[in-house]
Amino acid sequence: MPLFKLGDDLEEFRSEVRRFAEKEFSAKAAYWDEAEEFPEENRKTLAELGYFGLLIPEKYGGVGAPIIQSALFVEEMARVCFNTCTICQITLHGPSRAITVLGSEEQKQRFLPPVVTGDYMFAISISEPDAGSAVTDMRTKAVDDGENYVLNGSKCFTTLGNYASHFLVMCRFGEGKGARGIGALIVDKNSPGLEVGIPDKKMGGRGAPECDVFFHDVKVPKKNLLVEGSSTSSKSFKLLMDSFGPERCGNAAICVGLAQGAYEVAHAYIQEREQFGRPLMEFQGIQWKIADMATQIHAARMMVYRAATNEKDGFPDPKETTMAKLFANEMVQKVTSEALQMHGHYGYTRAFPLERMMRDGRGYAVGGGTVEILRNTIAAMELGRTFDQRRS
Ligand SMILES: Cc1cc2nc3c(=O)[nH]c(=O)nc-3n(C[C@H](O)[C@H](O)[C@H](O)COP(=O)(O)OP(=O)(O)OC[C@H]3O[C@@H](n4cnc5c(N)ncnc54)[C@H](O)[C@@H]3O)c2cc1C
Repeated sequence: MPLFKLGDDLEEFRSEVRRFAEKEFSAKAAYWDEAEEFPEENRKTLAELGYFGLLIPEKYGGVGAPIIQSALFVEEMARVCFNTCTICQITLHGPSRAITVLGSEEQKQRFLPPVVTGDYMFAISISEPDAGSAVTDMRTKAVDDGENYVLNGSKCFTTLGNYASHFLVMCRFGEGKGARGIGALIVDKNSPGLEVGIPDKKMGGRGAPECDVFFHDVKVPKKNLLVEGSSTSSKSFKLLMDSFGPERCGNAAICVGLAQGAYEVAHAYIQEREQFGRPLMEFQGIQWKIADMATQIHAARMMVYRAATNEKDGFPDPKETTMAKLFANEMVQKVTSEALQMHGHYGYTRAFPLERMMRDGRGYAVGGGTVEILRNTIAAMELGRTFDQRRS
C-alpha cells in the first residue's frame, strides 16, 4: 500500500542520514564544486559504512531495503552535497539496480558484492551524439563473433565515466531497427579498445563530470551480456528502460533534497537580514515566497514518496515516477532561484551556497529524460497511445 506518512523507522533513518551527511560532507561541499574535483574520500566513507548496498539484496552483501529508503537517502545527501550525492544516485539506482532485476545469478554474484564494498563503480552509457532524446536511434553495435561480443561505437554524457570501473552500455544487436534490437552489455573499463574522453566542462555538478566513451573493437565476454536485443521485439529495450525507474525516482528525490537545502538557507536569512528597519521576514511579499516554496517542496516530496512506495517487482510506479521527476525537476529550479533572489546580491555570490545549488539542480531537467520527453511519456499514458515524433 503506498505511504502518505513515513513510519518511525524511516523517519529515524532520515535523521541518521541527515546527521551523518552534515557531519561528514557539508564542510567540503563547496570545495568539490569550486575545484571541480571528484569527492573520492566521500565515496570511500560511503562504501565503508555500507550505504552502497542499500538496495542490493542481503544475499549479495547489501541490505535489501525498499526504494523509498534509498530515495530518502539521496534526498538527504542532496540537501548537503550534490556531488557526493551523484555518486550515490548512480551507484544505488543505476546499473547495480538493473543487474539486480535483470542479471543472471552468476552476474549478481560477480558484480553486486564489489559494488557494495566500493571496489566496483558503474556508469551508464546510453546517450550518443545523434541519439539523445531519440534514444532508439543509437548506433553503437555488438556483433557476436562466436566467443565474444565485439562492440563498436561511441557514447556521450556518461556521468562519472572517467572514474567508473565498469559501464552498463546499451547497444544494438542484430538487424532490428528503432527500439527493436537494443540490449545491454556490462563492459570492463580496462577492456582493450575502450577509451574515455575528456570530462565535459559544465554548469553544475562540477565534481561529478560527464564524459564520452569510445569503443573500438572491444571484446566483451558473453558472460557479460545483461540483456540481448532482439531483431523482432522491443521487449529488451522496455525492460532496460523500466529498470531505470528507481533512477528517475532518485533523480526526483535529489531535486527535493536540493530545494529543501536552499529553502532552509533562505528561511534563516530572512530572519536576520533587515531592510527598512525590519527583518525581511516581516514583508508579506517575502512571506508569500516562503509559502510557495514550502508548498512546492511538499508537493514534490509527496509525489516522490508515493511513487517510491507504489513499488511492484522492484520498479516504482512508472507513471507516478515520471510525474514526480517532471514536477521535481521544475520545482527545484523555481525554489533555488527564489532562495537566491531572497538573498539579493549576496545570493549571487559564492558567500552562500545558493548559486551552486541553482546550477546543480538545473541539469536534472535534462538528465535521465528531459522534461519535454517526460511530458510526452505522461501524455502517451494518459491518452493511451504513443505519438510518433518522426517526420513521416
Ligand atoms: C547532468 C546530466 C547527466 C547525464 N548523465 C547521463 C548518463 O550517465 N548516461 C547517459 O547515457 N546520458 C546521460 N545524460 C544525457 C541525457 O540523457 C541527455 O542529455 C538527454 O536524454 C537529452 O538528450 P540531448 O542532450 O542529446 O538533447 P536533444 O535530444 O538534442 O534535445 C534538445 C532539446 O530538444 C527537446 N526535444 C527533443 N525531442 C523532442 C520532442 N520530440 N518533443 C519535444 N521536445 C523535444 C529536448 O527535450 C531538449 O530540450 C546526462 C545529462 C545530464 C544533463
